[in-house]
Amino acid sequence: MRGLHLTPDLLEGAYEYLRLSPPFRDWRLPEGDHVVFRVLGARDRYGHFRGWHRRGNGTDRFSEIAISARKVKSSQMLIATMAHEMIHLYQDENGSARGHHNPEFHRLAARVCAVHGFDPEEF
Ligand SMILES: [Zn+2]
Repeated sequence: MRGLHLTPDLLEGAYEYLRLSPPFRDWRLPEGDHVVFRVLGARDRYGHFRGWHRRGNGTDRFSEIAISARKVKSSQMLIATMAHEMIHLYQDENGSARGHHNPEFHRLAARVCAVHGFDPEEF
């Protein structure tokens, strides 16, 4: 057998690992059970985040993190890609951005890269 063979369970494991580590552990992100993890075959991106909210009671939300098995070929890349999407999740949860790399995203990304040793140029 070759390669990582990404599965939703592996993605959730990566998510939970990061959720225990700084700076994510201070962000009060939802437990993995409340996030949908998908493996994609996309060639045009490493991953994506999608969040849905139904206005009204404030509790009805749905978040999806997807990672491309075609693009993400190493554990390092998996963790880095997951971390990237988790910044989007955090910003979505806080209503500060959706799917955009705004100044706050770059500020948070710089902190994540410094803690985890990711290359800011590739993050
Ligand atoms: Zn992004």
